[in-house]
Amino acid sequence: MEIQILGAHQFESKGARLTSLLIDGTLVIDAGGLTSALSVPEQKKIKTVLLTHHHFDHTRDLVTLAANAGYRREQLVVYGLRYTLDIITTYLLDGEMYINFLEYPSKEKPTLILEAIEPYNKKPIAGYDVLAVPVKHSVPAVGYQITSSDGKSLFYTGDTTAGISDQWQHIYPQLLITEVAGPNKYGEQLKKFGHLCPGLLKEELIKFRQLKGYLPRVIVIHIGNPFEQEIKEEVAQVAQELEADISLGCEDMKITL
Ligand SMILES: [Zn+2]
Ligand SMILES: [Zn+2]
Repeated sequence: MEIQILGAHQFESKGARLTSLLIDGTLVIDAGGLTSALSVPEQKKIKTVLLTHHHFDHTRDLVTLAANAGYRREQLVVYGLRYTLDIITTYLLDGEMYINFLEYPSKEKPTLILEAIEPYNKKPIAGYDVLAVPVKHSVPAVGYQITSSDGKSLFYTGDTTAGISDQWQHIYPQLLITEVAGPNKYGEQLKKFGHLCPGLLKEELIKFRQLKGYLPRVIVIHIGNPFEQEIKEEVAQVAQELEADISLGCEDMKITL
């Protein structure tokens, strides 16, 4: 399994894209900084998008991805919680701001097909076993465990905060991709808004190791851009304290499992 980090940041600027992951060139999780990271031939290989939640920084590029696919008369399947799909149908794909990709080029064969996922119900999607697990955030959200046919496994938490450890019992990944939106000094505010700081992440990882007896490699994305250096230093401190492989992700980074 090859995981490519298309976007590793919370805010967008030159060189910093919004959260998006690409698995083996075909399966996308979250569509923040997606289309600007990939050539058209690369975008053509994408058939499936999994959404963790509806926030704009995770769904925005559904529109730009659909524009390219719709032009070619191709279809994409988008999975998410029913709640998530309802919100993006009402506000992002309403057909007023732009083309209605849920009905274009035809109602019979639209560019985007929305499919609701059931948490805790492992489902074969695009050649993988996909398990959606509810996570704590400011809105309904899930993380995804993606397992390939050769048994390689990734868990991506999406946006989340303290309490993610409640879900460790359901997963068994070789790689954990999670978020840190700010440094420890803003821990209380980050928790209030449904995010993690390095100190909060440390507590959750300690619980992971206690429960599972191991700690997978951990990659941190959704990095709060203004605090990147501080976050990097604090994450390095956590890695040292836990004697674990924990580091920041970056745009275009590739990890092979
Ligand atoms: Zn969010
Ligand atoms: Zn976010």
